[in-house]
Amino acid sequence: MIFNIQRYSTHDGDGIRTLIFYKGCPLRCQWCSNPESQSFGHSILYDRKSCKNFGDCALAAPEAISRAGKNGLEIKRELVAEPEKLRDLCASRALTLSGESKSVDELLTEIEKDLPFYRKDGGVTLSGGEPLAQGKELVLLLQRLHERRISTNMETSLHVKWEMVERSVGLVRTFLVDLKHTDPVKFRYYTKGDAGLVMENLEKLAYFGANVVVRIPVIPGFNHSEEEIQQMVDFVSTIKGIKEIHFLPYHTFGVEKYRMLGMEYIFDNTVQVEEEELLPYIQYAQSQGFTTKTGG
Ligand code: SF4
Repeated sequence: MIFNIQRYSTHDGDGIRTLIFYKGCPLRCQWCSNPESQSFGHSILYDRKSCKNFGDCALAAPEAISRAGKNGLEIKRELVAEPEKLRDLCASRALTLSGESKSVDELLTEIEKDLPFYRKDGGVTLSGGEPLAQGKELVLLLQRLHERRISTNMETSLHVKWEMVERSVGLVRTFLVDLKHTDPVKFRYYTKGDAGLVMENLEKLAYFGANVVVRIPVIPGFNHSEEEIQQMVDFVSTIKGIKEIHFLPYHTFGVEKYRMLGMEYIFDNTVQVEEEELLPYIQYAQSQGFTTKTGG
C-alpha cells in the first residue's frame, strides 16, 4: 500500500525522480513527520476546521462516524469497515483517506509516465514508511525496474531483518540510510526500535558492496549534541565504503497531521533546527573524510 507518489522531485537522489511513498513502518519515531506512513493499512485524516458537516461520511460509515460530537465528527477509526467508501467522498476535503493498494504493474504504469524526464541521472526513489517492510511486492518491483534499467534509490531505516535487505542489494543504486542514534537505550525510548539491528544491517550492507549514503536526522532533545553526532560519525567511520553523510534538520511540518489522524504528538520538542546549527556536525564529518550535504 502506498500513500503518495511525488513526481519531478530533485531531492532524494540525482536527477529528476519519481518518489513512491509506502505505507507501514516498524518504527515509531516520536518526531515522525509522516505519521500517516506508520500504519500498514488505510489512515483517515480529519480536519475539523474545514468540516461543513455535510454528513456524507457518517452515511458511508455509520458504524464508525457520528455527527453527534460537540467539536465536529466523532470518528472511531478502528471500526471503519470499508475505508474505500470514504475516498474522495468529502466535498470540502475535511475528511480524507490516506493509503492506496497498487499492484506492481500499476506502479510501473505510473513510473513509466515519467520516463522522458529521467534522462541520464534520474529515476525512482522508494520511500515511506519503510519500503523494506513491504515484502515480496517490493522485491518484484525492484526486479522489474532493474530489468527496465530504471535507476532506483531507496530511503530506509534498515530496521528490518537482514534477509529483506539482502534481497534488494544489486537492485538498488543508492541506499539512503537513516542513522538516528547509536545509543540503544535512547533509540528504544524514542523510536521503539533496536539500534543494534540498524547498525548491524548498515555494516553488512556496506560489506556487500552496496552504494550507501548515511542520513542523520538532527533532532533536538534526542541527538542534537556534538557528542552524540560525533559518536554516529565515528561509527560510520569504522565501516569501509561509506563516503557521504547527509544531515537532515528537524522540522515541525508534520505536527498538525497528528491531530488530524486522532494521534497524540508526544515528542516534547517543537523547535525547528536551523541550518547554521548543523555547522559543527558538518565540520566534524568532513574532518573524518566524509563528503557532506544538508537536507535531502
Ligand atoms: S522511520 Fe521514518 S517513517 Fe518510520 S516512524 Fe521513523 S520517521 Fe516515521
